[in-house]
Amino acid sequence: MDLSKLRINGARLRTSLEEMAKIGATPNGGVQRLTLSDEDKRARDLFVKWLKEIDLAVTIDEMGNIFGRRPGTEDNLPPVMSGSHVDSQPKGGRFDGILGVMGALEVMRTLHENKVKTRHPMMIVDWTNEEGSRFAPAMVSSGVWAGVLERDYAYGRTDINGKKFGEELVRIGYKGPAPAAKWPVHAYYEYHIEQGPMLEGQKKTIGAPKGILCLHWYDIYLTGEANQVGPTPMEGRHDALCAAAEMILATNRLPDRMGGNIVATVGEIQNKPNSRNIIPDGVHFTVDIRSWDDDHAIKAWEHLKIDLQEIAARRGTPIRIDETWRCPHAPFAERLVQRVLDTAGELGYSSLHMVSGAGHDASYMNQVCPTAMIFVPSIGGRSHVEVENTAWSDCEAGANVLLHCLLKTADEH
Ligand SMILES: [Zn+2]
Repeated sequence: MDLSKLRINGARLRTSLEEMAKIGATPNGGVQRLTLSDEDKRARDLFVKWLKEIDLAVTIDEMGNIFGRRPGTEDNLPPVMSGSHVDSQPKGGRFDGILGVMGALEVMRTLHENKVKTRHPMMIVDWTNEEGSRFAPAMVSSGVWAGVLERDYAYGRTDINGKKFGEELVRIGYKGPAPAAKWPVHAYYEYHIEQGPMLEGQKKTIGAPKGILCLHWYDIYLTGEANQVGPTPMEGRHDALCAAAEMILATNRLPDRMGGNIVATVGEIQNKPNSRNIIPDGVHFTVDIRSWDDDHAIKAWEHLKIDLQEIAARRGTPIRIDETWRCPHAPFAERLVQRVLDTAGELGYSSLHMVSGAGHDASYMNQVCPTAMIFVPSIGGRSHVEVENTAWSDCEAGANVLLHCLLKTADEH
């Protein structure tokens, strides 16, 4: 057959996404499928069943990463890989991650039913704990697989209830026998929703990011002095929450002050004892800094750190700062990025060359093999929320681009 005419089945892709959206469905139309939860297990079970239905060889590694392999005509060649993650944020959306897994599955189903042969083998993957919301940091299992993070470090991460990653992996039955260690890969494509407003704003269907911004995470701990709020005069208070409030605004002003392309966010805060009539004596909050320029992001952090220390000293609230995680910016393989743009054009879809502000497993894959991503529009630019949405026609378009990028790449010499 003329492979250039081949298309994925958009209705089937939609059905798969709708089936997955039932697992951990939330009342307002989102999903909550935290990594290594019972919902994650159910989604994995269904995914594995679907892989086996189309004769893919399924491997599960010691990080719970799930791989499905389709042989090539020259089966010793390194595989072309594609995938994403089935886990979600708390009260997250129905497309983040799962679109890339179901999109790659739909490609595999299309190849299977049309008996398409490819030179390189092809592999689909579900990476464990991409989100990092139950167990920080994010993208931990692609990081271990890529050889950037230590397996035992990942196993030891704990959730808010003190449960360990390693134990939860065993509990849901997905600690597999295969070592989580990279093998040669010919290329990796990750299909994902944009999670931002650019594509919708510019009325484009397909986004081809030139890479992913660096991602730097910090944790700040403040100690104040608790006291009854009524009798304690305003002077001489050591109010940890007020110190945090100043620090949060300093973080928010940081990009303006630094100039250049940078974003800085405080997204999580815990206040102790969190009582209306006690002066707060313990606050923890997070700082997230992202930029295309790693040095600029670090320089910004150094400025912010001085500010935070100054605020803490002035308010008498001792500060502890943990530099939790730094993932460098990831420039993708230009040849593959161009292929995404060209393929979109050949299929009649408009496209945009852009950057990804969100982190993805593609960051770590980019350290293993030539990597690119395919984005489709997020309605209203919203993501990590229950109203996260993408038009079904765009889901189909992205999967068709993925299909043809994978076909071209799998037939390369
Ligand atoms: Zn994602």
